[in-house]
Amino acid sequence: MSDGRTLAREFLEQQRLLGGDTVILSDGPAPGSTPGSRPGSVTPPGSSAGLTPGASPGRTRAPAANALPPAGLSYDPPSGDLFSTDPIAQAVSLEAIAQLVATCTKCRLCEGRRHAVPGEGPPDARLVVVGEGPGRVEDETGRPFVGPAGELLTKILAAIDLPRERVFICNVVKCRPPENRLPQFDEVAACVPYLFRQIELLKPQVILAMGGTAAQTLLNTKQSLGALRNQLHRFRGIPVIVTYHPAALLRNPNWKKPTWDDVRIARRLIA
Ligand code: URA
Ligand code: SF4
Repeated sequence: MSDGRTLAREFLEQQRLLGGDTVILSDGPAPGSTPGSRPGSVTPPGSSAGLTPGASPGRTRAPAANALPPAGLSYDPPSGDLFSTDPIAQAVSLEAIAQLVATCTKCRLCEGRRHAVPGEGPPDARLVVVGEGPGRVEDETGRPFVGPAGELLTKILAAIDLPRERVFICNVVKCRPPENRLPQFDEVAACVPYLFRQIELLKPQVILAMGGTAAQTLLNTKQSLGALRNQLHRFRGIPVIVTYHPAALLRNPNWKKPTWDDVRIARRLIA
């Protein structure tokens, strides 16, 4: 349904918001271009067509459903240098990172773990999803997001036409905090070099930060999730979209619709 004018407007708007250094065009029909087609929950586009009020009624200028959020925070932590002797900075592959994580004892979370969970996905993944830390099932299996929250994440990714096998999925801390408590500041500080190096190696087109811990860590801020949503942040220049954690969605289904909006924005930023 999108015509050339719509595409051109979208392109120029993206150029403005993204600083003009990246050419990003969505590869499908522009979201919201079909009035009434916005899904009301995490379901494939079209499956609830006509049920959702609030879709842009006409072809007015810059429809809200089609706009990227305004620019937010930008965090550019230094990366390792060539002469570093730090094994994390020197790790040349995701496998090398995973090996370091498997035997890591840099924080107290190593004491209770059954398996460290470095993360998984292809090295050419265009999207990186960052959660908080492994839960019980993840600790038992060594794989990220395979418990109940993981099942929901898998559905969310499938709904935006990105099977989880094509996404790199990982967490801020790689070992399970006891009783799934929040990772503490020193634990995050100890573990985050692994995440930063993973992102450096992956060079994704978009990062999806799920939950406050991921968002605050990637953006180096203490602002709340609510304050961070609806802005287009950057980590070392890579767009970061902040949304709810899937475990929070299981507790509060009202957040599914805003999450859907967020992941669609993330999807649009992927070439
Ligand atoms: N929650 C997370 O944040 N990460 C997982 O891997 C699983 C649940
Ligand atoms: Fe190492 Fe991270 Fe596990 Fe702590 S949580 S022991 S820093 S891998």
